[in-house]
Amino acid sequence: MGVLDGKSALISGGGRGIGRAVALAFAAEGARVAVAARTRRQVEAVAAECGAGALVLELDVTDEASCRCAVEAVERELGGLEVLVNSAGIGTSQKFTELDAATWRQVLAVNLDGPFHLIRAAVPGMLARGSGTVISIASVAARRGAPYVAAYTASKHGLLGLTRALAAEYARSGLTFNCVCPGFVDTPMTEATVANIVARTGRTREQALATLVTPQGRLVRPEEVAAVCVLVASDAGRAINGAAIDVDGGQLQS
Ligand code: NAP
Repeated sequence: MGVLDGKSALISGGGRGIGRAVALAFAAEGARVAVAARTRRQVEAVAAECGAGALVLELDVTDEASCRCAVEAVERELGGLEVLVNSAGIGTSQKFTELDAATWRQVLAVNLDGPFHLIRAAVPGMLARGSGTVISIASVAARRGAPYVAAYTASKHGLLGLTRALAAEYARSGLTFNCVCPGFVDTPMTEATVANIVARTGRTREQALATLVTPQGRLVRPEEVAAVCVLVASDAGRAINGAAIDVDGGQLQS
């Protein structure tokens, strides 16, 4: 018996990193999962790891029609959509005076418009069934400003705002909306951040990594983020609503 037995879940950004860990953890707890991202071979590999019946979906979250199709496919193939996990995301880093409008728009398109499109497509079916859970992977950047990440920080603050508004709007409808807010996690995205620091500052990889670790002296593991998502998605997590759950080794303490 798994705590997600009988639930179906769509995981955007499921091809690698945190989304992959969420897909594997959900499948291990008995959920039927749909793994979605743009890179088909990564999505197929994760779906295969999840076991028989996992759905492979090519998805670009910046494209409203693509999001609608993905939700429809899950509702059709898995008999409804119980849990939506928004993990697709991108990060950039630069001085604000080097942040151009195209980069700003791209980060907002993936990190904020993307969850909007998917949630907008998923909520009518959830309302019709009277139950549903939306979990968005935000960041400590949803709760505190930091230098050189204006677009990313704005997108994640927006995602938390969207989440809180919907948690209030649908509190009596059987739906929950939450953000999970990790510190730096050991994923390909963080590898890219380390490479960027090395390239810009001439520091070694170890020195760059040392600037990113949590107060526990290490990166967060993707499985630790996934474990929180399992709790929120399970029946035991039904009272968790409108929350921003830090998984940051004590970085924010808020
Ligand atoms: P990652 O390793 O780079 O994986 C990102 C995933 O998102 C990939 O599967 C990627 O697949 C997908 N994706 C990107 N753009 C997409 C698009 N337009 N449409 C559909 N899928 C798209 O990143 P991660 O570290 O797992 O991060 C996952 C989430 O956690 C992000 O929202 C990130 O902001 C957040 N987060 C990460 C950290 C961290 O330290 N890593 C910390 C806090 C929060 P394709 O490129 O193939 O589409």
